[in-house]
Amino acid sequence: MGTNRDGSHLDIGVTDEADRALRAEVHRVAVEVIRPAARALDSMAPRDRIAPGSPFFEVMTTLRQLDYHRIVLPPEAGGPAEPVGAITQSILLEELGWGSLGLATAFLVDLLPVIAIADFGSDELKSELMTPWVDDTTGAFHGCWAITEPDHGSDALTLRDPAAADYGRAQLVATRTEGGWLLTGQKSAWVSSGPIATHAAVHARAGADGGPIDGLFGIVDLDQPGVGRGPVADMLGVRDDPQGEIFFSEVFLPDAAVLVPPGSFHPMFLDQLLCLTSSVIANVAVGVARAAFEEALAFARSRVQGGAPIARHKNIQLTLYAMFERVETARAYARAALGFTRANLPGASPTASGASPRHARAAQILTKRLAFDVAHDALQVHGAIGLHRDSLIEKLFRDARCLLIEDGTLEVLALDAARDLIDNYESDTYDAEEMMAKW
Ligand SMILES: Cc1cc2nc3c(=O)[nH]c(=O)nc-3n(C[C@H](O)[C@H](O)[C@H](O)COP(=O)(O)OP(=O)(O)OC[C@H]3O[C@@H](n4cnc5c(N)ncnc54)[C@H](O)[C@@H]3O)c2cc1C
Repeated sequence: MGTNRDGSHLDIGVTDEADRALRAEVHRVAVEVIRPAARALDSMAPRDRIAPGSPFFEVMTTLRQLDYHRIVLPPEAGGPAEPVGAITQSILLEELGWGSLGLATAFLVDLLPVIAIADFGSDELKSELMTPWVDDTTGAFHGCWAITEPDHGSDALTLRDPAAADYGRAQLVATRTEGGWLLTGQKSAWVSSGPIATHAAVHARAGADGGPIDGLFGIVDLDQPGVGRGPVADMLGVRDDPQGEIFFSEVFLPDAAVLVPPGSFHPMFLDQLLCLTSSVIANVAVGVARAAFEEALAFARSRVQGGAPIARHKNIQLTLYAMFERVETARAYARAALGFTRANLPGASPTASGASPRHARAAQILTKRLAFDVAHDALQVHGAIGLHRDSLIEKLFRDARCLLIEDGTLEVLALDAARDLIDNYESDTYDAEEMMAKW
């Protein structure tokens, strides 16, 4: 999307009036609510970011009250009766990413447990947890996605890596007990919203040894004995979403809250879940790229050097054009991947089966790389002022750098996509049954 000088917006993919209105509305919220909070959080001490009254909670509550979460939920989870299309979701995700990568991440990890319950939860879990969660407008619920462990960062995401056939000892181990599982161990210090989440979508392993087939996935109530939290991590970027460890000491996970038990479906579920997270974060990354491009453009129009606004210098013009081209390319592919992920899912169920890992990973890799390239060039356009703590591009650059690691490093995602191509590419289709048979 671009903004013309008369205030109108250009987005060649959006023709629907309702989508245009949504984009204008979310953009206003991003300008007035999300960005100011993100800037404030970015410079706060880690523990202050999660203290009562923190802008973090204000933003999360506002987004809830605006019902934005429903846009990405299926109807049975409280989403619109008529499921919205990928373009509508893409608009929301891009505008949130434009406002803040960290707060967009917090918005998304909050919904991961809800989406998973909608797909795999019992009626009881839906009525007792999912519905109150979706209806809540006070911030009483907040989710996180606890997948990585101190010794399992990339390992947690490299499903197709033969070198990772021996996954090493799990650091969150599930032991069978009557009526459920006991969880003992910990997750990594990078769990987004981990320090404040009320519930976690948790991946654990049944027994310390084994691979994805021994994994289980469930929703853990974090307000119970045996749960501990590490300090808020003091990171380079994405500082507006607090990250931290979660510790488990014989934490009871009842069978009713286990959405995917150990077994051959677990790796397939994980693969599909990663398709969803990849195609979603790709659309958020487009927002980061566009934010950086727009900052550079505005700056180049006003900064005078060599007797003219720097936008009149050829090198800056070419840089600005290249940034625009990258944003447009990133958006086109991110939207296509989101649509493809959704279109292949039975009943538009986001984590069930049928999405193509190679396309979802490609969307994530391409958009993150382009977002970083755009942020890098945008900072160069700013000169020294771009390095100053008070300039927005300085924050965008740090956030864009984190994107190259968040949700999987580019290298590891590319290797995973490459292995899928080498092993399975026949006619550009993805056969989930065949994939499952390999595990
Ligand atoms: C902003 C942010 C938010 C995050 N949010 C969450 C979250 O919500 N929940 C959560 O659980 N985790 C989260 N993470 C963790 C994230 O998923 C991991 O950081 C990521 O998967 C990489 O793992 P690692 O940092 O342990 O790096 P490592 O896996 O240790 O990788 C180190 C280096 O080795 C390379 N490498 C590793 N393995 C291989 C391999 N098999 N082949 C080739 N190269 C390899 C990598 O590319 C990298 O360059 C977040 C991280 C960040 C930065």
